[in-house]
Amino acid sequence: MQAGYAPAVAAGRPIDLPESLQLPLASGAPWWYWLGGRPSLDFVNTRRERWRRDVETLVTPADLVAWLSVAGLLARDGARADRRRLREAIALREAIDAAVAAAVAGAPTPAAALATIDGWLWVAGPRPHLTLGRDGAPRLGEHVGADPLRAALGALALDAARLLGDPAERERLRICAGERCSARFYDRSRPASRRWCSMRACGNAAKARRHRTRTTVPSQLPEVRA
Ligand SMILES: [Zn+2]
Repeated sequence: MQAGYAPAVAAGRPIDLPESLQLPLASGAPWWYWLGGRPSLDFVNTRRERWRRDVETLVTPADLVAWLSVAGLLARDGARADRRRLREAIALREAIDAAVAAAVAGAPTPAAALATIDGWLWVAGPRPHLTLGRDGAPRLGEHVGADPLRAALGALALDAARLLGDPAERERLRICAGERCSARFYDRSRPASRRWCSMRACGNAAKARRHRTRTTVPSQLPEVRA
């Protein structure tokens, strides 16, 4: 999943949240943010502006299904969600975020967060099933009837577990250094020295701010990210 992860969205600038946003949103779909580089981090970034307005973009069960579809984890017509599943998904998301934030800070992983992520892993992949064929020979198949939505959440948990449980991967977890950004991302750069979720957005905003502070008193706050 890691190397081939390519959300079905047009590449480009991240979409800033306007100041005039009516909160809570009716649907978060226009404001999803796809710069995390890994599905579990894009998932965490569905809660935007954690540092300020705390904008929830997984508002409805339909939002959850649509998000998982764009992320390539679920066929668009492959599932329905209900409020309960949405609550479970959000609990998983917050557990991943708690573990990621702890990893970035070099702090111990909260045990409850780890248990929540681990609790999803068993639905992450195919569940092999050995049955007896009519000819009396064993047949290897899969359990049928697995809930594709649960499987998609399991895949997110597995992606997070691979990031968190491997020291080399864990070292590449980042929280954007943008002054007004809180996006979590995976640093794929060779020297592992990326600071911003997007050079085009937060990186340039930081450069512009440095330039302004050198030349004049800042009169304008940088744009809002994540
Ligand atoms: Zn950023």
